[in-house]
Amino acid sequence: MKKLDNKVAIVTGAGSGIGKAVAIAYATAGAKVVVSDIDETGGKETVASITKAGGDATFFKADASTSEGNAALVAFAVATYGKLDIACNNAGIGGEMNLASDYSLEGWKKVMDINLNGVFYGCKHQLTAMENNGGGVIVNMASIHGMVAAPQSAAYTTSKHGVVGLTKNIGVEYGPKNIRCNAVGPGYINTPLLEHNLSPEMLAMLKDKHPIGRLGEADEVAKLVLFLSSDDSSFMTGGYYLIDGGYTAV
Ligand code: NAD
Repeated sequence: MKKLDNKVAIVTGAGSGIGKAVAIAYATAGAKVVVSDIDETGGKETVASITKAGGDATFFKADASTSEGNAALVAFAVATYGKLDIACNNAGIGGEMNLASDYSLEGWKKVMDINLNGVFYGCKHQLTAMENNGGGVIVNMASIHGMVAAPQSAAYTTSKHGVVGLTKNIGVEYGPKNIRCNAVGPGYINTPLLEHNLSPEMLAMLKDKHPIGRLGEADEVAKLVLFLSSDDSSFMTGGYYLIDGGYTAV
């Protein structure tokens, strides 16, 4: 018996980076996985990796920053696999980099819509489906910047602090309903998000900020998400768990 046998899971932003690693970890642990992303090519590549390895996954294109996108994704999971047990709200962007006084209103709104509002919309629709199913587990992707500032990224820091707060509230409200909800706080992880947003000089500087002496890997984060999504973490809810190579301990 595998850890997630007979479980149905959703992962948003699963066409790349951490979300892709989470979808693969869920499927390897026996779950049926709905791989969702706004990027069809990346999402379908994740599904292909899973099915090639003998796992069960289906792609659903959805914009995680909208309530409609999240509602359609949950409805698809229930229609395809009969229920929803697990959701990882992972889709996110780094966004504009500027001092707060120079930060554009559009840039602020875009980060909030994807990184914070999208996680709320996801949780809202997932909670209803999980209640109908007698319980479930949600893991929200925060960041170390749910705890400490990210230079020139006020929107990112604010959105991730919001995700931690939302996660606490859901943990408290839904503990009695057999639904657990936790947040994960990765340090800097080797993914396309970093490559697209940061110069090689910045990446080298960031590496030095992790006492372990390197950036993290997506599958290291996926192992923590898998733990929080399985019965191994049955007494954990409303929490925020760092996986940061010591970044926030300095
Ligand atoms: P990534 O860019 O590799 O992957 C993000 C995925 O999300 C992409 O496939 C993208 O198409 C998708 N996406 C973006 N907007 C979307 C939308 N509106 N709807 C649906 N999908 C959308 O990034 P990553 O590094 O894997 O980041 C994943 C999550 O982890 C994000 O929430 C990010 O903030 C968080 N995180 C990343 C790091 C890091 O250092 N890479 C550290 C801490 C937290």
